[in-house]
Amino acid sequence: MHEMSLAQSIVEIVERTAKENHSNKVVSVRLIVGKLSGVEMHSLMQSLKIASQSTVMEKAEIFVDRPPGTAWCMNCGKTVPMERLGDACPECGGYQLRVNGGKEFRVSEIELSDDEEN
Ligand SMILES: [Zn+2]
Repeated sequence: MHEMSLAQSIVEIVERTAKENHSNKVVSVRLIVGKLSGVEMHSLMQSLKIASQSTVMEKAEIFVDRPPGTAWCMNCGKTVPMERLGDACPECGGYQLRVNGGKEFRVSEIELSDDEEN
């Protein structure tokens, strides 16, 4: 399952960051998941829940930013919004589009607890 491997790589990044900062508790994790990234959110959240079990991330709150899709239209000569992959240009109805935004998938922020006693 695609989302499970994404979830596992997120947990790995978070665990590594926590370790590097000598923290054993992650308060929150912020993700950027572009609307054209092809990631199914429900499935990703379920996978994260499973993948983070018994890790420093287990109780972390997860925030998700979802940047909208955009594409460069050759006809219009500008960037236009794109709801989903394969859509026509909303301005000219053409299909000469190159996606230039909304495909990102990454961890943008990791908030660690500074309580090192636990
Ligand atoms: Zn166009």
